[in-house]
Amino acid sequence: MTGSIAQRFGPRLAERRAQALYRQRPIVSSPQGVTMVVNGQPYINFCANDYLGLASHAAIKQVLAADSTAGWGSGAAHLVTGHHEYHHQLELALAEWLGVERALLFSTGYMANLAVQQTLLQAGDLIVGDKLNHASLIDGALASAAAFKRYPHLDYQALARRLERAEGQSMIVTDSVFSMDGDLADIVALAKLAHEHQAWLLVDDAHAMGVLGEQGRGSFSYFGLTPAADHVLMGTFGKAFGTSGAFVAGSEVLIESLIQFARPFIYTTAMSPLNALATLKALELVMEGDDLRAQLNANIAQLRSGLSALGLDLTASQSAIQPVLCASSEQALAWSEQLKHQGFWVAAIRPPTVAQARLRITLSAEHHPEQIARLIEAFADITKQ
Ligand code: PMP
Repeated sequence: MTGSIAQRFGPRLAERRAQALYRQRPIVSSPQGVTMVVNGQPYINFCANDYLGLASHAAIKQVLAADSTAGWGSGAAHLVTGHHEYHHQLELALAEWLGVERALLFSTGYMANLAVQQTLLQAGDLIVGDKLNHASLIDGALASAAAFKRYPHLDYQALARRLERAEGQSMIVTDSVFSMDGDLADIVALAKLAHEHQAWLLVDDAHAMGVLGEQGRGSFSYFGLTPAADHVLMGTFGKAFGTSGAFVAGSEVLIESLIQFARPFIYTTAMSPLNALATLKALELVMEGDDLRAQLNANIAQLRSGLSALGLDLTASQSAIQPVLCASSEQALAWSEQLKHQGFWVAAIRPPTVAQARLRITLSAEHHPEQIARLIEAFADITKQ
């Protein structure tokens, strides 16, 4: 049917509004941090992914201010003249840190997830993903020529049954820390299944990198593993690293294949070289960040015990992502508004992003225990009403 954009989308926009599902973009006018100015008002921020408080870190600013080797822009794609020595140094540092042969930078994690699945899998292959995987993993699977099946969240028996029936090459695809529930995939079990079924394994470590494992090396390290030949480890810089962009880490042949054939790598402008420089400094801070990780874990324990004592519906998450499940989208929005009135910014996440509406609280090492205590008190007020 032909018609205007307004004819097609007018009713859909109205429906979203009516269902309390309309999305808004709050305007931030301060640096990222635990205290922020959003829509002109000061708030204590409980919904960023800046888990170690590096997004506005003074040491990173200093490194950027002192630089004379790069400009803002990268000017071109990596394969043209966009690959600055800071990109190169960052890739080498990541590979060494993670104990893999190579690492490859991407401008965003979304593109990295698209690139891996679209490039490595072909018609006749199978991608099997956890039902709660991040949207970028799902879109990457849909963008590949392989068949795509989903298994119930963390149900590795269902996954094994799928793998048994597969005929071509299969790839298991999972978040490590799940972005909306905060719980953790069992990478040992997945690596074992992958081995038994000659499947490849893609792990999205966006919410684990910098936070879990020795020196913050992520989920493989947390489980005492290093990525094997047919494992693909993807990480992002927009969370614990406090910058932006992403990388894929693994074998020499994996990385060379992506450089030669991955369209989301080849046909896009390289991330700013200054972002690569900032990320190099962030990597140093992550490696030395045991104190920050200890503070983050203490903050997580404090929030969980306070909210469970109020009888709120929490998930099994032990991570910095601590959702409070709500009875409806309306309740999630109302609670988020009430918290805003008390000076706390906590995002309401609703369908279709998640099946059950929730407040997605995220913690940072930068949160002071007093701020967490005040958030718990605010929840106590809300639940009394
Ligand atoms: N994977 C996961 C699990 C994520 O949470 C995100 C970001 N929300 C991404 C991938 C995408 O990363 P980026 O923001 O760098 O595109």
